[in-house]
Amino acid sequence: MTKNSQYSDHERILTGVRPTGPLHLGHYVGALENWLDLQPKYDCFFLIADYQVSDHADDFDRVRKSVFDVALDWLSIGLDPEQSHFVIESAVPEHAELTTWLSWWTPLGMLQRNPTLKAELTEIENQSAKRSAPLAFFNYPMMQVSNILMPKAHLVPTGEDQQPHIEMSREIARKFNNITGRELFPEPQGLIGRVGRLVGIDGQAKMSKSLNNAIFLGDSQEDVLKKVRKMYTDPNRIHATDPGRVEGNPVFIYHDAFNPNTNEVDDLKERYRAGTVGDVEVKTLLADAINRFLEPSREKRHEYESKPNLVREALEAGSNHARKIAQETMRDVRDALGINYFKD
Ligand code: ATP
Ligand code: MG
Repeated sequence: MTKNSQYSDHERILTGVRPTGPLHLGHYVGALENWLDLQPKYDCFFLIADYQVSDHADDFDRVRKSVFDVALDWLSIGLDPEQSHFVIESAVPEHAELTTWLSWWTPLGMLQRNPTLKAELTEIENQSAKRSAPLAFFNYPMMQVSNILMPKAHLVPTGEDQQPHIEMSREIARKFNNITGRELFPEPQGLIGRVGRLVGIDGQAKMSKSLNNAIFLGDSQEDVLKKVRKMYTDPNRIHATDPGRVEGNPVFIYHDAFNPNTNEVDDLKERYRAGTVGDVEVKTLLADAINRFLEPSREKRHEYESKPNLVREALEAGSNHARKIAQETMRDVRDALGINYFKD
């Protein structure tokens, strides 16, 4: 594998997605854009985290389908299995083993303080008063720590919500190295995308596969227009002649993120504040910008949709490679812990 930069092949990236649905614009600006940028410079492991979807345990058909949808999304935007490794988490069961060992050095309080876990727990409990989160849910940040440490990753490009997990990885790597007296795991750095947390089309703080408030990378032109037309804007603005609020307004957050024509965006903001532009114009121009943004990946998507074998092969080759690396790491871990019972 040749990498054309100052980074060595051994500088690794590990990052991932849960297979809970297709990918959306939030993934792109929060994470995927960085992945594309880093792909030629690092040895990249892109993981589909199917051990971490206990909140979708009653719909495993969707999980299975989403594994392939995510890989198709990756290929469509230009992630390249010739350069990077596409990995299915459960195809590398060593992840589960490492999670078990590392959880020995993970104080419960570390998980209880994790703000992302707390927020998601509230979400699960709100979905149904009767539903309590399964044990596996509390373990998923630990699984992420294992995902990151397994290939001894240096850098973890993700959205903002994953930062507490990266901090955990740093702490646990440090502890493991101290306890065993070996520099086995590098302390990984996080890297947040240009929009760390993209709001949903409904105005909720985060666009999310699970919240039904997403514009997907695979949406058609018509879907994009329909969703943008329904978007939440300034709730206090009833008529086009009312002065409107631009700051924090999802429509303008998206214009800033996806419309490269800054003159057009500045002009729309000015007229919105003055009450001289209607929502229809602002939204039509936004839908056009998003459609232009998505257009190049649509062509590639059609190509890969007609060749599902390529998607499968990418996942199989990447997972096999990751498993070899994982087995090396697990040998090191067992050596460091002195648990090679049958070794002379
Ligand atoms: P789910 O609702 O099932 O958790 P999700 O939409 O949150 O799905 P994940 O698979 O959890 O997606 O996240 C994958 C990556 O995308 C992570 O790095 C995450 O930080 C990033 N990401 C997800 N949603 C957003 C968003 N709205 N803005 C910025 N980054 C995001
Ligand atoms: Mg998530």
